[in-house]
Amino acid sequence: MTEEKSLNFLEEIIEEDLRSGKYKTIVTRFPPEPNGYLHMGHATSICLNFGLTAKYGGYSNLRFDDTNPVTEETEYVDNIKADIKWLGFEWKNELYASDYFDTLYEYAIKLINKGLAYVDDSTSEEIALLKGTPTEPGKDSPYRNRSVQENLGLFERMKNGEFADGTHTLRAKIDMAHTNMLMRDPLLYRIKHAHHHRTGDKWCIYPMYDFAHGQSDSIEQITHSICTLEFVPHRELYDWLIEKLEIYPSHQYEFARRNLSYTVMSKRKLLQLVNEGYVNGWDDPRMPTISGMRRRGFTPASIRNFCDRIGIAKRENVTDFSVLEFFLREDLNHAAQRVMAVLDPVKLIITNYEDGKTEEFQSENGPDEASGTRTVPFSKELWIEREDFMEEAAKKWFRLAPGAMVRLKSAYIVRCDSYDKDADGNITAIHCTYLPESRSGNDTSGLKVKGTIHWVSVQHALSAEVRLYDRLFKVENPSSEEGDFKDYINPDSLQIVNAFVEPSLKNAGKDDRYQFLRKGYFCLDEDSTAGQLVFNRTVTLKDAWAKEAQK
Ligand code: ATP
Ligand code: MG
Repeated sequence: MTEEKSLNFLEEIIEEDLRSGKYKTIVTRFPPEPNGYLHMGHATSICLNFGLTAKYGGYSNLRFDDTNPVTEETEYVDNIKADIKWLGFEWKNELYASDYFDTLYEYAIKLINKGLAYVDDSTSEEIALLKGTPTEPGKDSPYRNRSVQENLGLFERMKNGEFADGTHTLRAKIDMAHTNMLMRDPLLYRIKHAHHHRTGDKWCIYPMYDFAHGQSDSIEQITHSICTLEFVPHRELYDWLIEKLEIYPSHQYEFARRNLSYTVMSKRKLLQLVNEGYVNGWDDPRMPTISGMRRRGFTPASIRNFCDRIGIAKRENVTDFSVLEFFLREDLNHAAQRVMAVLDPVKLIITNYEDGKTEEFQSENGPDEASGTRTVPFSKELWIEREDFMEEAAKKWFRLAPGAMVRLKSAYIVRCDSYDKDADGNITAIHCTYLPESRSGNDTSGLKVKGTIHWVSVQHALSAEVRLYDRLFKVENPSSEEGDFKDYINPDSLQIVNAFVEPSLKNAGKDDRYQFLRKGYFCLDEDSTAGQLVFNRTVTLKDAWAKEAQK
């Protein structure tokens, strides 16, 4: 594609910074909190941060923002790393905000010495009461004017574990009447007697987000610290702390979070879906997590293309999930091997075909000739899709019906002569005659049939469990609906069928992508075993929901 893309606002800023000589090297970071698995919002941030330094020369760090000991786990750290690698990015340094706890402690002492921080003995309720409102100024805490010596002593005792959780905090001394509520003496440290996944029991005081994030950026000399819009009001504090601490001036830039329709994208909500059993784990193929999407069969390229080509915005917005599926289909159309699989099988018997005979046909592996062909065995009894037969042909029905002819993909033309039904009215078999002179590639029949259907030979077919997925939620934006977002879960988001697939799929590998002809794109699920193949449908061939909307 040679389409010229205009620069996004961050690229414009960076080009100007490079042109003016403000920076020679661009340094960004991706700063996940290890309290859950990464989702598509994080993928957007990863593609942005790593993409910018790849484009402009420089590097990106992976920094675990592990300042909250209670919610963080090593399992999450490992999965986050695996997800970023899978997306195709490499970080320069793997860092942890907790590695800076000593430095942050010194920074706090520096602020106390400058008269810019104090220990407050108020409870969180008392602090909230004096905070004021956006239209009314707050009131000074009774502890605000403690001496530097007293503050140093108390802060050390906080660190030494002499106080219980919630009894003391360290606050910046800024302005209780500030128009920005976050500047009204924000908390810098709180007491939390909790075990940390890396620092163990060394600390019982932990820095708040605002006293860790910008400082970590500065320690790492991040030039462009990119975050989402909810941090706009934090920028003033970010800059204030860097200025007062006299440390490397990183700058914060904000863009709109990525939201996708028909799903939720918050680790807290995704964790509820996992814990309450609505899905089968973080990597359930219906989840908008990177691990879920990987298992579902998304390719890294499709996610990167989506992020790059949709770009970023400065205003909140919701991207339609089908846009992501567009990029997925675009990539899979090239990547996927074509095969035949029948998801809702009914038997087709070719009455004039020799019993016990097998022929081998060559069928194309892909849309272009370079993909080559593979061998597909053919015999007297075939499985075809139940929906490819109609007892009474409708208008413009080009598939099977009594008296009608279709081509069996890569094989012969057959004509339907009769069919069997059981007592409940279900079709149990379809009887056809084949035309030997209509052999694919050497067709001398002179017949033109409009329909071509896929099939698998009964005798050669492998049975497989196929998992068909639909949207996880029934509404576009579950988080903005009344009540609990879980009330809007789509009860039919998973359908399991027993299918028959062509024998070449015996060797399906975990990274292989398939197009089951006419049925969509599929991949092997990790539950698959030699005895029981399991496939996931990654996406249908066409957007079924778009058709639905047009009705
Ligand atoms: P969540 O609400 O899901 O927990 P978070 O922002 O708290 O998300 P972090 O682990 O703190 O998650 O985020 C790591 C980085 O990913 C941050 O820079 C954050 O801004 C970015 N990020 C998170 N969610 C999105 C999103 N939906 N769109 C774009 N970037 C996001
Ligand atoms: Mg967070």
